[in-house]
Amino acid sequence: MEGLVTRSLGGFYNVTSGGVVYESKPRGLFRKEKTVITVGDRVTFTPQENDLAVIEQLHPRRNLFVRPPISNLDRLFIVIAAADPAPDLFFADKLTVIARHSQVEPIIVINKSDLADASAIAAIYQQAGFPVILANGHTGEGTQEILAMAQDGISALAGFSGVGKSSLLSHLLPHKLETGEVSHKLGRGRHTTRHVELFAVGNGFFADTPGFSSLELTEQSTLRLPDLAAAFPEFAPYLEDCRFTNCAHLKEKGCAVLEAVQQGRIAPSRHASYCQLYEQLKAIPQWQK
Ligand code: GDP
Ligand code: ZN
Repeated sequence: MEGLVTRSLGGFYNVTSGGVVYESKPRGLFRKEKTVITVGDRVTFTPQENDLAVIEQLHPRRNLFVRPPISNLDRLFIVIAAADPAPDLFFADKLTVIARHSQVEPIIVINKSDLADASAIAAIYQQAGFPVILANGHTGEGTQEILAMAQDGISALAGFSGVGKSSLLSHLLPHKLETGEVSHKLGRGRHTTRHVELFAVGNGFFADTPGFSSLELTEQSTLRLPDLAAAFPEFAPYLEDCRFTNCAHLKEKGCAVLEAVQQGRIAPSRHASYCQLYEQLKAIPQWQK
């Protein structure tokens, strides 16, 4: 049978198939080959009578994140607070870049919309072509919109600490079990477990992790300088005009991207993030590119 790994705990896995959860263990070969199974993995497995099901085969992944550990992500809801903490647009832009590079659809959620006017930030991301949702982690405003977009595939929340991800999750997954319940058996506190679980939402699944706050553009990332401009969807109409001059779209004369920034067709904050990410990627040693 084929299924989706929806929970990983101490070498055992929950595999969900046709709405049924099978407690499973990997076949011995996995350990020998050092194959690591991750929440989000699609697997072939065999149910056993009176025993754990056996995971026979791991299907190829379309993406894999390490912190938190999750694979085959389709959609990332990037949460920004309108205030408290002050919006960190560079961080949000970096997440959009990592998402797009990993074939994940970024959606911008502006939370704490009760604390400050969110319209300027909303305009920046709408202009860039991303869906934008205004939310409130206290009232649950916006969470129906999030759920409506998460009805298929695998979704997760991302964003800086304190923006309200846990508050939003309590509205998105009100019936989820306390993660502490299971981890206590292993004698670990719930705050020390890096545990991700996927919960069914319609035909889709939503990760219960408020993680994704520490994504780094490290040596491990496959994102390289030549990919960067393509990760900014609003640059697309202008890239053609710069292509033959090897333009980096930083401050070159006659750059069509810069012209679009000056004319208000690309948000200055988005271009500033592009320049900052360009510098970060340039700093990765050449031999790793
Ligand atoms: P996380 O670190 O991203 O998981 O953020 P939390 O969900 O823990 O929220 C951080 C703080 O912001 C908590 O004190 C929440 O009560 C508060 N908070 C969350 N959402 C909202 C909101 O929409 N408006 C306001 N004013 N506060 C919020
Ligand atoms: Zn250019």
